[in-house]
Amino acid sequence: MKSHIVVPALSQIKLTEPLFASYIEQVTKKLLPYQWEVLNDRVPGVKPSYCVSNFRIAAGLEQGPHRGVVFCDTDAYKWLETLAYCLECGRGRELLPAAEELIGLIAAAQEPDGYLQTYFTIDHPELKWKNLTEGHELYGAGHLMEAAVAFHRATGNETILQVAIRLADLICRVFGDGPERCQGYPGHQEVELGLVKLYRLTRIRRYLDLARHFLEIRGRRPNYLMQELARTGKDRIFPEFADYDEKYAQTHLPPAEQRTAEGHAVRAMYMYSAMADIALECEDEGLKNACLELWRNVTERRMYITGGIGSSGHLERFTTDYDLPNDRMYCESCASVGLMMFGQRMAALTGSAAYYDTVERALCNTVLAGVQDQGDRYFYVNPLEVWPENCLPSTSMAHVKPVRQRWFDVACCPANIGRTLASLGQYLYARDEKSLYVNQLISSSVTERIRGVGLRLEMQAELREAFRAEFLLELEGEGSVMLRVRIPAWLEGHSFVLDGQPIRPAVENGYAVLALSRPGQQHLVLTGQTKPRWVAANSRVRADQGRLALAFGPYVYCLEQTDNGDNLSQIYVRPDTSVTVAPGDPALPGNLPALRFTGLRLESGVEKLYGAPSFRLTEQQLCAIPYGLWCNREPGEMSVWLKALLPALDLLSSGD
Ligand SMILES: [Zn+2]
Repeated sequence: MKSHIVVPALSQIKLTEPLFASYIEQVTKKLLPYQWEVLNDRVPGVKPSYCVSNFRIAAGLEQGPHRGVVFCDTDAYKWLETLAYCLECGRGRELLPAAEELIGLIAAAQEPDGYLQTYFTIDHPELKWKNLTEGHELYGAGHLMEAAVAFHRATGNETILQVAIRLADLICRVFGDGPERCQGYPGHQEVELGLVKLYRLTRIRRYLDLARHFLEIRGRRPNYLMQELARTGKDRIFPEFADYDEKYAQTHLPPAEQRTAEGHAVRAMYMYSAMADIALECEDEGLKNACLELWRNVTERRMYITGGIGSSGHLERFTTDYDLPNDRMYCESCASVGLMMFGQRMAALTGSAAYYDTVERALCNTVLAGVQDQGDRYFYVNPLEVWPENCLPSTSMAHVKPVRQRWFDVACCPANIGRTLASLGQYLYARDEKSLYVNQLISSSVTERIRGVGLRLEMQAELREAFRAEFLLELEGEGSVMLRVRIPAWLEGHSFVLDGQPIRPAVENGYAVLALSRPGQQHLVLTGQTKPRWVAANSRVRADQGRLALAFGPYVYCLEQTDNGDNLSQIYVRPDTSVTVAPGDPALPGNLPALRFTGLRLESGVEKLYGAPSFRLTEQQLCAIPYGLWCNREPGEMSVWLKALLPALDLLSSGD
C-alpha cells in the first residue's frame, strides 16, 4: 500500500540544538548575503561567478557572451530555494528585494516558448537539447522547479512558479514517447526530482509521467548519450569527458535493473532519489527493489564512515566495493546531500527508521564539514586525512583543498549545503495519517494536527555519555495519535519514562511506538548510553586495515594538528584505550564535547631518508574533535583513521 509519510510544513518545526541552530542562523546572516554578492561578482578576490550577469545578458539587458560554467544558472536557483526555506521558517525577509530582482531576471531570460538556460540562449541557440550529456539544460530545469515550488510555497509568488511551469511544459513537448519527440534523457539527473515536486504542487499528471519516462528510457540500447557524444565529436564542453563511459551517468542499464552504485556520485544520488519518488508515487515495485539494493550497495560497501561517497578523485565517482582511500577520494559535499535526500525518500517509501542512521551520518559529518561555521567558506571535496603540503595544484591531489574555499569554478556545493541547512526540519520530523515520526534526536519542537488532534512536541536532547532526551507532549482535542521515536543505532539500552512511570513501548521498523490519547501535557524521557566507541572497518577496506576511528553518538571524531602536533601518521592507539568526554573547545560552534585519550607516537629513529630502524614509542595525550567541525581553527593536518597498536601475539593465541 502506498505510504503517505510526508514532512510537516517547515514553519511548524523549530530547531533549538545549539550547533545546528548556529549554522542555520548563519544561513540568513552570512551564507545567503555572501552568496548573493558572489553571484553578482561583487566580492573582491573571488573569481567572478557571472551567474546573475548571464541572466541579464539572456534577458537583453546587457551585451556579451555567456561566461562561467555551462550550468551556473543553477547557483541562482539553489540560492532562491535556500531563501525560500528560510522565509518559510520566518527568517530572511531582508533578502526578499534581492529575490524579487532575481526572479524578474529569470523570467526575463526565459524565451517565449518556455526555454531557459542562459548558456544556450546567449551563445548556442542552435544547439538546444542537442548536447544532453554535457549541456545540463534538464539539470538546470530541475533546480528551477525545486526553487519555484519552494518559493511559491513560502511566499505565494506566482511569477517564479509560472516560469517553472512554462519550462516544464516545454520539456513535456520536446521529450517523451513518439517519433516526433527527442528520445534523450538528462546527462545529469535532477529534472526528475523537480518534476515530481511540481506534480505534487500542481497535481498535473504529465510532470510525473515525464519524470517516470526519463527513468524508463535511460539505459536503453542503443545508448542515447554515447550516440550523442559520437555526434558532437571533439567539441567537448568538459574536456574530461573525452573518456566518458556509460556508467558515468548511470546509463549502463535501465535504472530498475541497476544493483551497484556506479559513476558520478551526485548523479547517482539524484537518480536514486528520483527512483524512490517514482516508486512511491507510482507504486512501482521494480524501482523500489532497485532502490533497496542500491542503498545496500552504497551504505554497506561504498560509503565512508563520515557518510562521504565517491571514492575516485578523478570524475567524482564510485569505483568498486570497499575501495575507500582516505586522502585522495572525492566525497563531494553534494553527494552527501544527495545521500540524505535518498535516505529520506527510502524512509518514506518503507517506513523504516534505519535509513535515518545514514542520513544522520552524512549530515553530522560530511555535510557539516562542507561549510565553515561562519557560512562563507566551503569544502567541495571532503577528505578523511589531510596533509596540507601535499595538496598541490596540478598533481593527483589538486582536487583536495586543506582549507575551505571562498567559491569554486563549478559552485554546486555551497548552495546545496545552504538549502540543506535551511530546510533541516525536513530531516527531523515526518507524519502520516495517524503518526508523528521523530527521525532525529536533535533538540527542536514541532506542531502538527493528526486525525483532528493537535499535537505539540518539544524535545530537549543532550548528547553526553548518558544520553537523555526529554519530550514535552501536548495534545489538544479528542482522539489518539501515534508517536514514533527513532531509536538510533548508536544508542545503547534505551528506556522510556512517561510521566514518571517506566514504559516499554514496542519497537517497529526501528521506531519506538507510543499511543498518545490523553489531552493536556505529558512528559516523556528517553535515556540510553552513548559512550565514545572505537570503530574498525571491514577487512576488505584496504585503506583502513589496522586502523581505528573514534565515534561518539552520530559524530565521527578526528585529530587535528592544532591540538595534537604535526605528522599525525606517527600516531598509534591501543584498541582498548579508554576515552574521556571533555568540554569542547569554546572556539568551535555548538558545545559538542572533545574526546581525550592517551595515544602513542612512533619514531623510526632513521635520520636520513632510509636506514636501520630503532623504533621508539612515546605516550602522547591526544584530543579529538568532531570531524564535521574540522578546519574551523588553525589550518593543518587532520586524520580520522588512526593506526592501531595491536597486541599481535594475543591475537594469534586467541585463535586456538
Ligand atoms: Zn557539489
